[in-house]
Amino acid sequence: MSQNVYVFAEQRDGCIQKVTLELIGKGKELANVLNQKVVAILLGKDSKSLAQILIEYGADSVRYLDHPVLAEYTTEPYTKAICEVVKQDKPEIVLYGATAIGRDLAPRVSARVHTGLTADCTKLEIDDTSQNLYMTRPAFGGNIMATIACEKHRPQMATVRPGVMQAIDRDSARVGLISEIEMDLSEADMNVKILEVVKEEKKKIDICEAKILVAGGRGVGNAENFKILNELAEVIGGETAASRSPVDEGWISHDKQVGQTGKTVRPDLYIACGISGAIQHVAGMESAEYIISINKNTTAPIFDVSDMGIIGDLNVIIPKLTAKLKKRKEQMGVNACQI
Ligand SMILES: Cc1cc2nc3c(=O)[nH]c(=O)nc-3n(C[C@H](O)[C@H](O)[C@H](O)COP(=O)(O)OP(=O)(O)OC[C@H]3O[C@@H](n4cnc5c(N)ncnc54)[C@H](O)[C@@H]3O)c2cc1C
Repeated sequence: MSQNVYVFAEQRDGCIQKVTLELIGKGKELANVLNQKVVAILLGKDSKSLAQILIEYGADSVRYLDHPVLAEYTTEPYTKAICEVVKQDKPEIVLYGATAIGRDLAPRVSARVHTGLTADCTKLEIDDTSQNLYMTRPAFGGNIMATIACEKHRPQMATVRPGVMQAIDRDSARVGLISEIEMDLSEADMNVKILEVVKEEKKKIDICEAKILVAGGRGVGNAENFKILNELAEVIGGETAASRSPVDEGWISHDKQVGQTGKTVRPDLYIACGISGAIQHVAGMESAEYIISINKNTTAPIFDVSDMGIIGDLNVIIPKLTAKLKKRKEQMGVNACQI
């Protein structure tokens, strides 16, 4: 019989990816409902040393495999290892981050072990009656939210984008079982050879990490006008983000896009400027702690998800707001985040 909630623990260069900790947090919630355990699957070259971190973030146990062919992610050996765990342990649920790696790995595993996969889920819950995993994700261009169940096959599998779920607090006193996956791997399992890894220089701040975001939409008007958003962001110690329209227009780069086909963010403060509040945008920012919207249309749907709405022209409001905050900051002589 299948049991337990498994999480693929994605690590890169010996760093556990944040999405893994978020999935362990969600996995724990699901496992508690099912009265089962959370198990992390950790693959790499010297990954065993990372196992304790996963336990401290909530995993009840860790299944790890260290092998030179797992040093860098490649599809075949990782797929083989996960399929072996599925065969040996018979998990009830397996969760993956919807990252470049998770999106490559999860569909392969699902095809090989003959089960379903729901990609890019925004909600996961256990159905009271059937005890099946209900996986919710946007469908039909984001116009509806579809809840999908995998009733006849196991494991039930889903990918979730970074930032959607919440990790639980680290507890260094937490203990758990760490065991090795027993299987044979060899160079012959690699059908791709990595000759060199060239890392893109990370110059930009990831909007998923920012505590304050000042996001602009089509209402900003043009690329040049994003300057007033940048100034406000700078004064309050935030970053600039955008809806899809300015990205499509080429006013701002795609890595700043919030929403269904952009990033999911969860800042303490989200200031939406000239954004109407389409469902595809809201899906990426509604979990922000506090939302302020500036829009000249009194009926803009963004006001429905906002804690505070300012009705008016952003070209007038934002410079005034920036000037006031700047002055206040100078008077107080403090960091803007403390205001
Ligand atoms: C499959 C699919 C995926 C998508 N993914 C995403 C996604 O990831 N992210 C995303 O954002 N969208 C996404 N979209 C697009 C989405 O449906 C909307 O078209 C988009 O979010 C609208 O962007 P906007 O709010 O900036 O523009 P608009 O809807 O045009 O709204 C502009 C707003 O600015 C206001 N305004 C205009 N001038 C001013 C001013 N001077 N001062 C104050 N307010 C002003 C207007 O009143 C209006 O409310 C997706 C769509 C599809 C079909």
